[in-house]
This record gives sequence, structure tokens and C-alpha cells, in this order.
Amino acid sequence: MKQYRVNEIFYSLQGEGVHTGLPAVFVRFSGCNKRCGFCDTDFAAFTLMSAADIVAAVMHYPSDTVILTGGEPALQIDDALVVALHDAGRRIHVETNGSLPLPSGIDWVTCSPKDRDIRLLHADEVKVVFTGDDPQWAAELFDGAVLSLQPMSCLNTAATVDYIKSHPWWRLSLQTHKLIDIP
Ligand code: SF4
Repeated sequence: MKQYRVNEIFYSLQGEGVHTGLPAVFVRFSGCNKRCGFCDTDFAAFTLMSAADIVAAVMHYPSDTVILTGGEPALQIDDALVVALHDAGRRIHVETNGSLPLPSGIDWVTCSPKDRDIRLLHADEVKVVFTGDDPQWAAELFDGAVLSLQPMSCLNTAATVDYIKSHPWWRLSLQTHKLIDIP
């Protein structure tokens, strides 16, 4: 039976992007294929869990939404986990850097691209941290995706707002979980 490397499972509200405020169970996978300097994810720690173990942990919480994140969840998510979570009545959201394909059937895909090496075929949302560089290349990755632009830890919020006002196909995403101090 496949074992997934799970860094942590916790219940909170989605802090960022289109679904800000949505209660969800977060399944954070360990490991990533990128090495971003600003990354705040602990890659090393993990517990090996089967799909049944993950479903059992998720079922402790009343929300019907599960957010698979990382690290890079596309390194580990497969059809078996998607089926197991759907059979348990959970909607599946994924947050990915877009550099790897995902199994089909995921209910909401948010791509946060770190470079132009994109092998993901579909995303519902593109979420980019605004560094001051023009993020237009990311806006053109996926037809019809919602475009969320996020200040760097709220440090350049005014510049981000100015950019959005002059490029109105983007919308503002704030890291609200940091603003209200929840996980
Ligand atoms: S892609 Fe995301 S998880 Fe991976 S190193 Fe970069 S910020 Fe961290």
C-alpha cells in the first residue's frame, strides 16, 4: 500500500486567494522540487500515511473541503488518494507550483508558479507574490483562471494595489491567516 509523506494535517481557514475564509482541512505534504529562498515550509519532517490514514485524519473535522498543499503536493498525490477523499465526501483543493502534472478530478487547482517551467495542464486560479517584477507572464499560463496577486508578507501592499488598479484582470490576495494569527 502506498505511503504518502505528510508533514502535518490541521484544520483552519483558507487564508489566501479566491477561497479566503473557507474552513478547510489542510494536508501538508513534505518535500518539494524547488528551492525558493523565501520558502517557509519545513521539508524534512514527515509521517508516512496511507490514503486510508489521511482520510481518517481528515474525517475528524466537519469541513467538506481538503486543501492538499506542501511542499509540492504533485510529487505525491495520485488517483488513489483523489478517489479515497472523494469517496469520503470531501472536495479537493490543491496548491501547486505547477511544475508537475496532477491527477484528474481535483475540484480546485491553485497554481503559484515560481518560474516558467510549467507542466500542469489546468488551473482554476493563478496566485503570484508581487515582487515588483511584471507578473504578466503568469497571467497567460491558463485560460480563464482567476488571477490573484499577493503582496510579500503585506510589505508592499500599496505597490500591489497600484499594480492591480492599472492591470485590472488581477485581484488582491492577502495572507489573512497571518493578519489574524491563525495557522
Ligand atoms: S515551490 Fe513553494 S514549497 Fe517549494 S520551495 Fe518554493 S515556496 Fe517552498
